[in-house]
Amino acid sequence: MNDNTPIDFAALSDAWDREHLWHPYTSTIDPLPTYKVTSARGNRLVLADGHELIDGMSSWWCAIHGYRHPALDAAAVAQLGRMSHVMFGGITHDPAIELGKRLLSVAPEGMHNIFYADSGSVAVEVAMKMAVQAAVSRSGSHVKTNFATIRSGYHGDTWNAMSVCDPVTGMHGAFGPALPVRFFLPQPRSRFGGEWNPQEAEPLRALLQERAGEIAALILEPVVQGAGGMWFYHPEYLREARRLCDEYGVYLIFDEIATGFWRTGRFFACEHAGVSPDIMTIGKGLTGGYLTSAAVLTTREVADTISRGEAGVMMHGPTFMGNPLACAIGVASFDLLASQDMAACISHIEARLAGALAPARSLECVADVRVLGAIGVVETRRPVDVGVFQQECVRRGVWIRPFGRNVYVMPPYVTPDADLDVLCSEMIDILRNTEWK
Ligand SMILES: *Cc1c(COP(=O)(O)O)cnc(C)c1O
Repeated sequence: MNDNTPIDFAALSDAWDREHLWHPYTSTIDPLPTYKVTSARGNRLVLADGHELIDGMSSWWCAIHGYRHPALDAAAVAQLGRMSHVMFGGITHDPAIELGKRLLSVAPEGMHNIFYADSGSVAVEVAMKMAVQAAVSRSGSHVKTNFATIRSGYHGDTWNAMSVCDPVTGMHGAFGPALPVRFFLPQPRSRFGGEWNPQEAEPLRALLQERAGEIAALILEPVVQGAGGMWFYHPEYLREARRLCDEYGVYLIFDEIATGFWRTGRFFACEHAGVSPDIMTIGKGLTGGYLTSAAVLTTREVADTISRGEAGVMMHGPTFMGNPLACAIGVASFDLLASQDMAACISHIEARLAGALAPARSLECVADVRVLGAIGVVETRRPVDVGVFQQECVRRGVWIRPFGRNVYVMPPYVTPDADLDVLCSEMIDILRNTEWK
């Protein structure tokens, strides 16, 4: 239903929820409003009062095929009829094997071993543990255990993941000395599609020259920095990082949790640079947004170096590792991607978003507009009031959740052109009518 009846905001809020349920990054004293969704289908979310919203978020990067896709639903139901879960210690199963084969078939060259984790943050923890175990084993030095990263990154909310998030916009303020101290490099400012400034790699070279003996790995999000600032940087930085990490004996970790599964126009964002990492993390889109699941991929060299080390094994093993239900849905999602010309699909969305967001450039409140793959970002000069912005979105039938000075869309790939246009035009119209404090 989307007629002209006004939204029934009272029907969309829930007093019990507001009193008792914690939502992401939310105050219990002054929580932002939540809107009750009763079902979802394709690229639409259905609200409790019957109105529909055009989804611009893919539920934080993951619902790439939209909601209730018949092929994914069928895979879930079929797997439920066999088993939804079984332990992975001493047991294996076809969903894990089939998903693994598909992962390796698209992974960057050199990836050989797969560790299934239960969420993106846990995958980052596992990747960092891998790097430390391998670096200590390879160097025989117990001080080669720290990490370098670039500013404005986001790698998740668990302890070590937090420690490599941006120190200003991330969690360092709240947790301070509780977090391990990492080496932070400047964010590469050469834009994707723009000119490469060779000076950008100098801070990394200088750091590695001085401190490589203490650093297990450099971790970063390739090309697209997501929740740390929605920034798209030049792929040459990744080629330089690869060269320097090799030169100084430091592992390179690519966090592809947000960027994988075609979001940037390639299966993985590192393909824009044509370089492989030593370790990579994958999550979010892995199950088409159906279940929490993630994977860490690594080279045979890293895997075997860990196995030759002190512990002799990879020291991790989550309860829900390789969950069959999640893996079976992941397989169906992979096959769905393989059955389509995804490069053409994403470049179509990219062109559509670029056209529809262009008018934002003339708004006084807008600092920058950038589009890459199925990601469209409007950066504002001042922070957006999320509560006010979202209420206006719901009133207009779109779902967009900004943070800080970034208003962005990353719609499900099944979004019709007309809905892409509405997402962009409503976003621009709301910004135009915003009273900036
Ligand atoms: C979302 C995200 C994570 C964390 O994943 P969760 O599943 O939320 O724990 C890690 N790295 C990147 C790049 C992400 O976008």
